[in-house]
Amino acid sequence: MGELERAYTRCPMCRYIFRAPRVSTYVTIGREPDLCPKFPGRQSDGSRAIQAGITMCPSCSFAAREGFDDLDLSSMQRYGLEERLREDGLLRVFRTSPPPWLAFHAAEVCGQERALSARELGDLCLRASWVCRKEREHPFESTFQLRAIRYFLRSLKEDRLAGRELSVTTYLVGELNRRLGNHREALNWYVNAARASGDDPTLTWLGRLIEQQSKLAKEQAA
Ligand SMILES: [Zn+2]
Repeated sequence: MGELERAYTRCPMCRYIFRAPRVSTYVTIGREPDLCPKFPGRQSDGSRAIQAGITMCPSCSFAAREGFDDLDLSSMQRYGLEERLREDGLLRVFRTSPPPWLAFHAAEVCGQERALSARELGDLCLRASWVCRKEREHPFESTFQLRAIRYFLRSLKEDRLAGRELSVTTYLVGELNRRLGNHREALNWYVNAARASGDDPTLTWLGRLIEQQSKLAKEQAA
């Protein structure tokens, strides 16, 4: 397991100073088919390593993947963020005892206001679903998978993805659909992903994954 450090950081929203956990280095032992990293040791340690990729202010719930020190919010953004963080239903319910996925949700809410791309917002939801799986929060895992699919579909329309990012995003739409039980939908997206990756020699790993998961989805659909 990697080193979990804590470093002082200042919230760019409310100026609160706190110690945020940060993973300096960690060892992974491959990835699951939805690209969730596998860690040696306990699932909860892996969950903590993924969670450390997000910083959330314990005072106002502002959250982001970027280090807080690199963020400079305009007063307009600050105003919009304040309102969103105050009004958000899940934050209101869970703020006092935050479940492991809450920081990802908060980062998604803040990311919408900061106009992050659909690809980035989808990535936050995907990571939240990994944490939910490691923590055995199955209903929330499905909720985040569904949200990740919606963002990835929007991303495929709006973000002008190309190369590896296009292939991987298309594949993930398939894989997340398979996990949600939509096997036929999944098969269509695997076909699209294979077409998108073409003969790219750097994507042979993805080609193998597509083949393997298509076979699985076919068995499950039967
Ligand atoms: Zn704050």
